Amino acid sequence: PRRISHRIGSIGESATLKVDAKAKGLKAQGRPVIGFGAGEPDFPTPAYIVDAAVEACRDPKSHRYTPAGGIPELKKAIAEKTLRDSGYVVDPAQVVVTNGGKQAIYQAFAALLDPGDEVIVPAPYWTTYPEVIKLAGGVPVEVSADETTDYKVTVEQLEAARTERTKVLLFNSPSNPTGAVYSADEIRAIGAWVEASGLWVLTDEIYEHLVYDDFETGSLPVLCPELADQCVIVNGVAKTYAMTGWRVGWIIGPPDLVKAATNLQSHATSNVANVSQWAAVAAVGGDLQAVAEMKVAFDRRRKTIVAMLNEIDGLVCPEPKGAFYAYPSVKGMLGKEYDGRVIETSAELAEYILDTVEVALVPGEAFGSPGYLRLSYALGDDDLVEGITRLQKLFA
Ligand code: PLP
Repeated sequence: PRRISHRIGSIGESATLKVDAKAKGLKAQGRPVIGFGAGEPDFPTPAYIVDAAVEACRDPKSHRYTPAGGIPELKKAIAEKTLRDSGYVVDPAQVVVTNGGKQAIYQAFAALLDPGDEVIVPAPYWTTYPEVIKLAGGVPVEVSADETTDYKVTVEQLEAARTERTKVLLFNSPSNPTGAVYSADEIRAIGAWVEASGLWVLTDEIYEHLVYDDFETGSLPVLCPELADQCVIVNGVAKTYAMTGWRVGWIIGPPDLVKAATNLQSHATSNVANVSQWAAVAAVGGDLQAVAEMKVAFDRRRKTIVAMLNEIDGLVCPEPKGAFYAYPSVKGMLGKEYDGRVIETSAELAEYILDTVEVALVPGEAFGSPGYLRLSYALGDDDLVEGITRLQKLFA
């Protein structure tokens, strides 16, 4: 018999975490590595949030388990925050507090999918989605977009991928890895198709506050209110409040889905760390000043990185409208000889770049789209310029 189950044994290591771990390992050895790998804001968590956690730490009440779906104060704060930020009216009973957006996505799919149920996943996709869908027994069905449509799929493509087994559409805007943001009209069209097709939609809104150039977009169930009963929102504090390590995210959904996900959580993890939940109460209950400041920095870096990348021969980088990722096509750089060796794939290119100029970035293979690279620009301005300058010199 197998020692490790087929189901878990067939899951690969997260490619983004792998690149990040390799870069951090080299850095620890004293190498001057510049990391564009991790999707992690470089800012510290704002002090008022940390203070709330310290206070909670000192209160013996927060040394205990909480209700499985989260403390009532946080569910209420999330409902209020959702109304404030996206205009979606949510009852606190519709919220499940999870260990990050990642666990929210896992639990939502585990609650929705029976073996063989299909989930339409627009590609390039965040590397975790297909693995999580498979883990929950589902079948990811990719629909691909490229730089010619700013990495956005159309209703026609979605319809062509729909079968009688299709149960869920996965929707992520602003997108990791491409930074693509769907316009309000595009979202309305996709929402109408979901409704007409009788599907569920899981909308991952973790980058909601990182939209640039006043680009007009919105939350799917706000633009398509008729979808409320088939819509699961995933969100969290990681990206908005520079809180990746605190592990707080949430699901918002209709009552049956919320009940199922909460029951699952009650056995899987019991609850999110009590102290982290109090930090999240301060975060989502506070104002959006910190994220507004981060956004100014990200926007500046976005313009710098796109301009500098496009100076490299054979590389094409559309301007992303959201999140903190640039996603250039490097197809024009492949099949050529570098230092006496022909590089055929973006995975080989990423490895060559790390080995020669010590710049870490993630190849498109990790996101279901070979021929591309993902660069997170959530790093300091000087490092960013230094890193891309190294690439420019390498490929000059
Ligand atoms: N969704 C997307 C698109 C992400 O990029 C991430 C993190 O990289 C997450 C969800 C999950 O974030 P977390 O689990 O840290 O809340």
